[in-house]
Order: sequence, then C-alpha cells, then structure tokens
Amino acid sequence: MLAVAIIGSGMAGPVLALSLHKHSIPCVLFELRTPDSQQGGNIALAPNALRVLDHLGIYDRLRLLGYNYEELGFTNGSGMILGKLWNGSQKVYNFPALRIHRSIVKEELIRECEKKGIEIRWGKKCTGVEEEREGSAVVRFEDGETVEAQFVVGADGIHSKIRPFMFPGTDPIFSGLMGVMGTVMVQNLNSLCETHGLDLPCMIFGAKGSFAIMPASFGGNELGYFATLEAKDRGRTGWQMLEKNQAELKEMLHERFLPEKNGFPVLVKELVEKTASETLTSWPFFSVPHLHSWSSPNKRIFVIGDAAHAIPPTGGQGAAMAFEDAETLAYVLARVLASDFNANHLSDIVSKWEHHRIDRIVKVVNFTTKNGDLRKSSPHYYEQAAKEWIIWATFKFMGPEGGAHWMYAYNAESVLGALA
Ligand SMILES: Cc1cc2nc3c(=O)[nH]c(=O)nc-3n(C[C@H](O)[C@H](O)[C@H](O)COP(=O)(O)OP(=O)(O)OC[C@H]3O[C@@H](n4cnc5c(N)ncnc54)[C@H](O)[C@@H]3O)c2cc1C
Repeated sequence: MLAVAIIGSGMAGPVLALSLHKHSIPCVLFELRTPDSQQGGNIALAPNALRVLDHLGIYDRLRLLGYNYEELGFTNGSGMILGKLWNGSQKVYNFPALRIHRSIVKEELIRECEKKGIEIRWGKKCTGVEEEREGSAVVRFEDGETVEAQFVVGADGIHSKIRPFMFPGTDPIFSGLMGVMGTVMVQNLNSLCETHGLDLPCMIFGAKGSFAIMPASFGGNELGYFATLEAKDRGRTGWQMLEKNQAELKEMLHERFLPEKNGFPVLVKELVEKTASETLTSWPFFSVPHLHSWSSPNKRIFVIGDAAHAIPPTGGQGAAMAFEDAETLAYVLARVLASDFNANHLSDIVSKWEHHRIDRIVKVVNFTTKNGDLRKSSPHYYEQAAKEWIIWATFKFMGPEGGAHWMYAYNAESVLGALA
C-alpha cells in the first residue's frame, strides 16, 4: 500500500511531494494531463510563495526565469500614482516578488520531482474516492484502476473529484469577474514610458475596470497584462469555449479599453491593439464555498490548494496558498507517519493544522475580496473618486507595506508551533 497518494500535479501536488521527500516519506502523484500539456498565463509570486519554493531549493533557479520586482504602482485611469505596494521586498521579506509564466513554475517543480525520483503517473484521471477505511483510503480512476494509500490528498484543483466525497454540493461559485490576459514584446511598443509616464509594473484602477501591466521575463522584454472585467456566468463549457475564442476576447478588450471616453493611458491602448491573438487567454474567477474542514471523517483524506479554497486572483495568492498548504501538510504527515506516533492523536493533530490554515485562508479571502471590489468598474463619478481615495489613503496611512505584511511574512514552518 502507498504511504501517500496525491491526486493532481499542478502547483500544490508537486510541492507536497517534494516536501514529503524532505521528510523521507514516499508518495506517488496521479495527474490527468500529459507532461507536455501547457496551462497559459503568468502568475505573480509574493514572498510567502517564494519562501516555500526556497525551502525546496528551487527558488534560485526560478528567479532567473521571471521578472523580479519590489514595488507595484497603483494608479488611476489617467496614470496618476495613488500609492506603491511592496509586492515583495528583499529587505523586509527576504524576497522580491516574481512575475513568471505559470508553466515554467510547473515545469521546474516536475523536473525537481523527477530528479528526486518521485513517481508521477500521467494521464490518470481520478473519478473519486471509493471508500475510506480505518487506516487507509481508496481512490478510483477512469481506467478502472483503484489505488489504496494510507493517506490520499486531493490537490486536483477547483473542480476536485476528491472534495465531493467529504463535502458534497460545494460546487465553485462564479464571482461576476473575469480576467483577460495578453502579452506584447516591449520592442513592438512605441515610446514606452516616455509618453504615458507609468512606472512598471503597475495596476490601473480606471472607471471602466482595472488593467495590470507587468513584465514577465527576466530582462523585462516581455510585457504581460491582466485586465479584470465584469462578466456573466457562461457555465463550464461556455468558459472553455471563450478561452479558445481569441476574436471575442479581443473584442471585449477593444470595447472596454480603446474608447477615448473610457480614459485609459496610451500604453493600455497600444498593448490591446498590438496583442497577438495567440497570446490572449481568459480566466473566469470562481471560488469554492468556505469549508470548515479539509479532511475526511477518519482523517485519511485531505484537500489542499484550489480544491479546498479556490479564491479569485485579485490578491495574487492562489498559488501561494496552495504552496503553504502543501508544505504545512507535509509536516503533519511526517508526524503521523513517524514510528512513535500514537494513532489516537490523529484527529487532534489534523484539527490543529486545519485551524492554522483555515484561519489564514479566511484572512486572505477577505483581502482578496476587498481588492476585487476595487478592480470593478465604477458607474458613477463619485464611486470612482471614492475608490481612488481609498487606495490613496491606504498607502498614505499604512505605507508601502499596504497592510499586507502579515500575508507576505508568513513562513509555513510556523505550523510547527501550532501542532505542539
Ligand atoms: C492565468 C492564471 C493566473 C494566476 N495568477 C496567480 C497569481 O498571480 N498569484 C497566485 O498566487 N496565483 C495565481 N493563480 C492561481 C493559481 O495558479 C492557483 O491557485 C494554483 O494553481 C492552485 O494550485 P492547485 O495545485 O491547487 O491547482 P491546479 O494548479 O489547478 O492543479 C490541479 C491539477 O490537478 C489536475 N487534476 C484535476 N482533476 C484531476 C483528476 N480528476 N485526476 C487527476 N488530476 C486532476 C489538473 O490537471 C492540475 O494539473 C493564477 C491562475 C491562473 C489560471
């Protein structure tokens, strides 16, 4: 029987596998995709995410493959700076922030798993939990195979097949917002910086929605953007179709960001006009309803990452939370799989981990929701003015840490204190 079966090899899965490896705990990853499948887009990794990757020894490789920065400028539609957030800081947090292709992070994690001899079984679609026993759990796969392990961890993302076993009826809920992302090479842009006066990276909070512009390559040559728009739910198939419909995505951007009256800076218009269609991708913001627990009755099955708490990207913390869950859960599993562990304490130690993580997720979700509200368009002048004032006042009174210190300074090792 396996010690740990991990379902899903996205962000949380390989980080859990590598963290378990540090504790000499064997595991196998089961992933429905093939090794070459790509999931597009860039992500910004804040210090709390990078700290986990550093503990695994891969941060130093990754930082050379993306754009390292500290300040993220917040501006209004005309480019006036409302405040600057330390999205990372070498001095305060030991890490600057890193903007990087999501697929590069995944590839590096997989490479590290392979280097460590961790088995990944590709093309294995889990269809759910077969049963939970006293000392193990059994999962089944589409090809008919069943696998028994002492512990099963669902790291299988927002549409998890593991979560319904413990928490039926927890389908993801659409937030009313979506992101459209694109990329343009700097050399294709005219008079970058001279004409629009924007310091990059920046997040523009306009009256007609928000538009983040962030370099995504080490030298800053590749400029990615992330537009946040209000949208109606299209259902899972509708969203999948939209992701492939670059013409419709382009039209959405043109309608929102090109008209003169909508008042976005010249750079935004140029980026929208010069985006090669094949770089366009979309992302509807869904969240998983709040769960009070992330484990099964016998504490043999867990959910982590998006499977447990998918949150909109407006706080830039989705991957970070997945990494933290994984590293902290590895500490728990290391304790319970140790030869001197008293099985009567399993429920207690798992509850302590859950409290530690769920308390934090609640705070992160609040932070994310507030940020999401600011990214919405403002139908009236006074709403826009209030939005700009809130942003300005936040940085005026809180400084560049912007009230995010508690989030970025977190070290997953702190779970050890909570488990005591
Ligand atoms: C475009 C984009 C931009 C983002 N930007 C940011 C950002 O700036 N900062 C940030 O912190 N986060 C960001 N996120 C969010 C972040 O990527 C997610 O929160 C993170 O990937 C969650 O990791 P996960 O491992 O829980 O889930 P996933 O990464 O979704 O991985 C789940 C894995 O499970 C596999 N799987 C699913 N179902 C099954 C099954 N039935 N059987 C077997 N395998 C299965 C999937 O194929 C996938 O590989 C972004 C996400 C996207 C899409």
